[in-house]
Amino acid sequence: MKKILIILMFFAMPAFAAPLQVVATLPSLAAIAKEVGGPLVQVEALTSPHQDPHYADAKPSLIVTLNRADAVIVNGLELEVGWLPPLLQQARNGKIQKGTPGYIDAAASVQLLGVPKGVIDRAMGDVHPGGNPHFLIDPRAGARVAVAIGQGLGRLDAAHAATYQQNAAALAQKLTALAKAETARFAQLPPARRTLVAYHDSLLYLVDWLGLRQIATLEPRPGIAPNPQHVAEVLQQMKAAAVPVIAQEAFYPENTSKTVSKLAGAKLVSLPGGARFPTETYEDHVRGLAQALYSALAP
Ligand SMILES: [Zn+2]
Repeated sequence: MKKILIILMFFAMPAFAAPLQVVATLPSLAAIAKEVGGPLVQVEALTSPHQDPHYADAKPSLIVTLNRADAVIVNGLELEVGWLPPLLQQARNGKIQKGTPGYIDAAASVQLLGVPKGVIDRAMGDVHPGGNPHFLIDPRAGARVAVAIGQGLGRLDAAHAATYQQNAAALAQKLTALAKAETARFAQLPPARRTLVAYHDSLLYLVDWLGLRQIATLEPRPGIAPNPQHVAEVLQQMKAAAVPVIAQEAFYPENTSKTVSKLAGAKLVSLPGGARFPTETYEDHVRGLAQALYSALAP
């Protein structure tokens, strides 16, 4: 009887299970997932911080990665709509299709900004009907995503649900503290310095978090390249409001921004496009991003 019990225990021991294979579309999501899962998960990112997540290329190697996955974590709000659906389809992995527990949608946990009002048409550019998808730039959103990932992993690996939940709560607490400290620091800047121009409409959550004001974007519409008439208008607005900074993720083109910042007497700040997974934590990524911006805005 004792022997049988020991054998049964052996098979029930979760410690013998292989780590969950987790695939994240973005490096920041991968960094959060790794911190939440620790040694219980193996995490891969489908893109790097140097890639514009709207237009990642659907390499065949990514299909193989997705084929082996137990879970996929997506940003959602159609950020990956241009490349992820065909990859998921070709991966032929029933565990990670939309609507299954293995498909974890980060956006579902976030308080969304930039939800368009009224009728949407293509003339508005690459507008996301569900809301602005660039929330990972804000650690308050990161904290919510960490908790959602903890719950998602716990559903797939119930034996360790408590561990995922604890790790997620600890990370969320660190991120919330960081977010508050940075909000307080930026509030010390003179109000006239707390303005910026962005390249793409991807800084909405950052601007909200740090109490800044975004005067304009160099793209006339999301995903549509700057044109001379719009750029002239932005330059005018920048001069009128003495905007100190143009900020953009490193993967956006810099030529227009360089010219405009020079003409406006502003600095061009290149922001990291995501955590440098696996060497950098999400928290360090966000801290570095805030510091880069703060240095440029401080008089
Ligand atoms: Zn966008």
